[in-house]
Amino acid sequence: MYILLMGPPGAGKGTQADIIAEKYSLPHIATGDMFRAAVQEGTELGKKAKECMDAGALVPDEVTIGIVRERLQKDDAKKGFILDGFPRTVPQADALKDILAELGISLTAAININVPTEDLVERAVGRRVCKGCGAAYHIKFNPPKVSGVCDSCGGALYQRDDDSAATMISRLSVYEENTRPLIDYYKKAGLYRELDGSQAIEKVTADFIAALSA
Ligand code: ADP
Ligand code: ADP
Ligand code: ZN
Repeated sequence: MYILLMGPPGAGKGTQADIIAEKYSLPHIATGDMFRAAVQEGTELGKKAKECMDAGALVPDEVTIGIVRERLQKDDAKKGFILDGFPRTVPQADALKDILAELGISLTAAININVPTEDLVERAVGRRVCKGCGAAYHIKFNPPKVSGVCDSCGGALYQRDDDSAATMISRLSVYEENTRPLIDYYKKAGLYRELDGSQAIEKVTADFIAALSA
């Protein structure tokens, strides 16, 4: 299965992608995770990405398309993937179409997680992420068993620099302007499915699995 996972910041993409990737043994490819890894490594890409991320802006298309092209060419992606947070612009979606055509891959579905805008700020501001494995928790909606510690790997939890109410204002407007148009894009391609992301995590997962077999 070759799955795209879309949705506004804080919708639950990473949470669902982790579960689905494990269930179907697919690589979970998240551009945000790739940029955060580059920031950790202190590479040129990381420096550029950090500036954009902290401003709540998108990393430029040519940079983002380049890292996705490289990633999708790796062997593990040939049998399937769940692509989380890419594409986020129409030029990225066009580039993805070309990359997949070169690889001889057809998408299975483009899944959008829909959450009312007014809930997204609380989700992002309460998010805590594991330094070790990247798992996302929420101080209220999905707390770890021990405060500040990852259930699955024991790593320390931290708050992302861009998960502030102020940065969320930019991220949400960038979403409306650049990413929301992809809903129509994938509807026209006949690949679009929508999940009600305001439900409990397990219920969203159940709908996700049903959408994949529909
Ligand atoms: P995204 O990758 O779309 O930004 P995450 O998966 O990181 O979103 O989720 C954002 C925050 O919301 C996290 O703190 C996560 O624990 C929490 N969350 C995810 N799904 C749900 C849900 N269905 N209900 C409530 N909170 C959720
Ligand atoms: P969220 O879904 O919560 O916004 P992500 O981890 O997917 O979080 O993305 C964090 C940041 O990384 C974005 O705000 C943006 O700066 C950058 N980023 C991630 N994916 C892309 C993309 N496809 N195009 C451009 N920038 C991206
Ligand atoms: Zn962890």
